[in-house]
Amino acid sequence: MTYRGVVLDLDGTVYRGNELLPGAAETVQTIRDYDVSLCCCSNNPTKTRTEYVDRLAGMGIEIDEGEVLSAGTVTTDYLVDEHTGDDCFLIGSPGLRDQLADAGVSLIDDPTAADVVVASWDREFGYDDMTDGLRALADPTTAFVGSDPDRTIPASGGRSVPGSGAIIGAVAAAAARDPDRVMGKPSPEAIDAVGDALGVSPGECLLVGDRFDTDIAMGERAGMTTALVLTGAADRDDASDADVTPDHLLDDIGDVPDLLA
Ligand SMILES: [Mg+2]
Repeated sequence: MTYRGVVLDLDGTVYRGNELLPGAAETVQTIRDYDVSLCCCSNNPTKTRTEYVDRLAGMGIEIDEGEVLSAGTVTTDYLVDEHTGDDCFLIGSPGLRDQLADAGVSLIDDPTAADVVVASWDREFGYDDMTDGLRALADPTTAFVGSDPDRTIPASGGRSVPGSGAIIGAVAAAAARDPDRVMGKPSPEAIDAVGDALGVSPGECLLVGDRFDTDIAMGERAGMTTALVLTGAADRDDASDADVTPDHLLDDIGDVPDLLA
């Protein structure tokens, strides 16, 4: 079929660490040659659009800011749109704090005064943060938003470290409350953001990613054609256990041009 839009996950799909994965540059070039819309979509909540543009440029891939979004941008846009004027207590990284502050979100230090609590990955997360979450969420009218569901994130040496999902879960357990919303893939908010960035209907899009529960789940939910690459979180054996089934199973992103031809 002919695709008019391509969604690319980044970590484990386009690059791993500071290394571009095989065929990534050629795939982006093919997307350009065919004049197909591109949206790069990461569940990392800590980086701005500009940082992704710079990072990819450093690996030889040119994209513009309108072609990238992340759990950080989706969370920020959600707060700006749905919690206008609300006071936000953040349990999260300095990178997400900067994005929220730059967008004009009111960030406060007193958890008991919060209208909305955002929980997200933070390397410095600890007992005091759980206590703050408990205080803030004691008021049932305080909204509870998670930045992304990723329980783990890939680290060097092929091992994983705890991600936002682990921290959201810790705060949720302390407060005995599930988050009201979790942004990032596969949330409806991320699907809408991807659709806005691409400007084409989901049925005309191919999504390429390395995780079943976020990438492939989002593509399936949105009605896109999905392709799982085996260069990241999942291997062939995982496919039989997963709740979702990708339309294509690819060794790496270098097989994507064949799907676009
Ligand atoms: Mg990934």
